Amino acid sequence: MKILDLKTSNRCELMDITSRVAQVVGDKKIKDGICIVFCPHTTAGLTINENADPAVKKDIINHLKKVVPEGNNFLHSEGNSDAHIKASMMGNSLNIIINNGKLVLGTWQGIYFCEFDGPRNRKIYIKVL
Ligand code: ZN
Repeated sequence: MKILDLKTSNRCELMDITSRVAQVVGDKKIKDGICIVFCPHTTAGLTINENADPAVKKDIINHLKKVVPEGNNFLHSEGNSDAHIKASMMGNSLNIIINNGKLVLGTWQGIYFCEFDGPRNRKIYIKVL
């Protein structure tokens, strides 16, 4: 298993980690397989979405903030329940097909680490099978 260290710089952000995941897959020299990316945090998640127009990730963040606003109308005493909810909405793992040694992604797709309670030092786990 490979661990990647990430450093986020905002409370909410989508960090494009496509090239870093692709590097891990490339280093393994596995021609056909599966890459599992796992987020071990409860206030951050993972998603695959458009990486061509940067407005898309801004729209995703802005809309998530509207749907689940930060605030104190939650029971959880830590005060970051909005971040827990957003993390669950995104999910905490991805399975990506590896074909001919490369991640199979759509033309406009990128892999994003989704920070909802940053800035923080974070980790993701990557397993290539
Ligand atoms: Zn919490």
